[in-house]
Amino acid sequence: MIKTSLRSHLTLWFAGLSLLTLLSVGFYVGHIATGQVRQASGNALLGAARSTAALLAMQLRERQLEVSLLSKAPLMRLGNLDAPDILTLMELRSQSRAEYAWMGVADTQGRVHQAVNGLLVNQSVQQRPWFQAGMRGEYTGDPHEAVLLAKLMPGSPSGEPLRFIDFAAPIRNAQGETIGVLGAHAHWSWVTHIVESATQQKDAVPDLQALIIDGDGKVLYPEALAGQQIPPTHLNSPSGWTSGNGYVTASVAVPSPSNAQLSWYIVLRQPLDIALQPARELLYKLLILGVLAAVVFGLVAYYLASTLSRPIERLAKSAKQVQDQQPGAVFPQEHAVLEIAQLGRSLAGMTQSLLSKERELQEANASLEATVAQRTADLTQANAELLKLATHDALTGVYNRRRFDEKLAENSLLFQRTGRTFALLLIDADYFKRINDTYGHAIGDEVLAHLASVIEKTTRATDFVARYGGEEFAVLLPEVDEPDSPEVVAEKIRAAVAAAVFPTVGQMTVSIGIGVAEPADRDSLALLKRADLRLYEAKAAGRNKVA
Ligand code: GH3
Ligand code: MG
Ligand code: MG
Repeated sequence: MIKTSLRSHLTLWFAGLSLLTLLSVGFYVGHIATGQVRQASGNALLGAARSTAALLAMQLRERQLEVSLLSKAPLMRLGNLDAPDILTLMELRSQSRAEYAWMGVADTQGRVHQAVNGLLVNQSVQQRPWFQAGMRGEYTGDPHEAVLLAKLMPGSPSGEPLRFIDFAAPIRNAQGETIGVLGAHAHWSWVTHIVESATQQKDAVPDLQALIIDGDGKVLYPEALAGQQIPPTHLNSPSGWTSGNGYVTASVAVPSPSNAQLSWYIVLRQPLDIALQPARELLYKLLILGVLAAVVFGLVAYYLASTLSRPIERLAKSAKQVQDQQPGAVFPQEHAVLEIAQLGRSLAGMTQSLLSKERELQEANASLEATVAQRTADLTQANAELLKLATHDALTGVYNRRRFDEKLAENSLLFQRTGRTFALLLIDADYFKRINDTYGHAIGDEVLAHLASVIEKTTRATDFVARYGGEEFAVLLPEVDEPDSPEVVAEKIRAAVAAAVFPTVGQMTVSIGIGVAEPADRDSLALLKRADLRLYEAKAAGRNKVA
């Protein structure tokens, strides 16, 4: 999982959400606006189409009315289709209206009697629809290409085929009998001109296209689209306009001036691209606004997130310092956001108690170590004392009997193996019972301790002095050669004791028996026995003697 900072988190969320919201609003508003703009365009087109259709219908009705009035002129009722005044009447009429391409009268057989400019005179128009319809009543026809006139009239400069709209009305005599038909052909360009001028007034609608289609949906105008079929769906649309095939289209039927045969539609259409341009512009503006707002929101969020995250980052850094046991961890405890201040206080408290616990632990550890060291020292000392107690005599401080026995055995073994001769002195205090009896046991003890120290001082460090028991001491001498022969050492001891002044008792003496190890000895007992024997001899010799 990618870990991002609080700052980036908040910024991205804020910017993303605002962008999403504004884009949604933008698209929704754009959608609504598109619908409304489309409707406005449809309605505008419909209005224009209606007024154009009305204008065209009025013009057609007027032409129809003119032809009709002309056919009912008193001159016509006279029954003479060849009367020159009829031509004059027709010439006056067609001169006043430029749209008339042809005007003439034909008898009931369809033979043209008179016509403006003499066109088609004496020719038969019996097969022309206008003539046949005109025999029955007033007639306004669909546009058609001129069949007969085309050969007689100059073509249009644009090369378009000559098209006409026919108007016709029956001519009746005074008795009411039909004696002929008055026909007129109006230029189709007259109609298209009316439509063009009507729609071009509506310059409020850009790129407007005006069409005239017949009842089957076939395009009559403009020439460029002539013959194309406009899908008739919009003719059935209840609103009068539709949107599709890239256009907003409105159609209105041109009311027929006289008969049901005439069924044209004025179709006005505008490319959807153009029609929806305002909505699209609005949408773009909203989108740009959305992106700008997202950027602003993002910046604001970044600023807010920074004010939030900076103290948190600081707390995190300090916490890391505490974790890494680095000094200088500071937890800010004041912040506008309650939780951050609370967090700072909690962390500070936690750190303080953590550090004091650690200190206590260190102190406890140190004192424990001191105690252990003290105990170890005590134990070592106790061990040493114990060792001393085990090997030394408590009263005199010299080695005890147990240690003496061991030492004697060691020396015997060593002697047997190496042949190194050693000697044993057995020392017994003379008349000691008397000292006890005279001065008491305690003084006797003191004298014994003093005696031991005198013996120790007189012997060498390598000599081994032990209390053999009671008031007897034993000294093991590792050297037996001159000048430190056992006899010399024993004498030195005897003389030293005799010369020493003992507390309370003053003078006292000892008797010493010497034993020297011999290869024949089976064990140390033989040596002891020999020394003991000598001691007995020394006693027997009068005491204060060496034997
Ligand atoms: P001698 O050896 O010269 O024949 O005479 P003695 O008085 O020393 O005779 P003996 O060896 O029979 O007596 C030893 C006396 O030493 C007996 C005892 O009361 C005394 N004695 C032995 N051990 C101790 C001791 O630890 N302290 C004291 N105060 N007296 C002791
Ligand atoms: Mg004794
Ligand atoms: Mg004695």
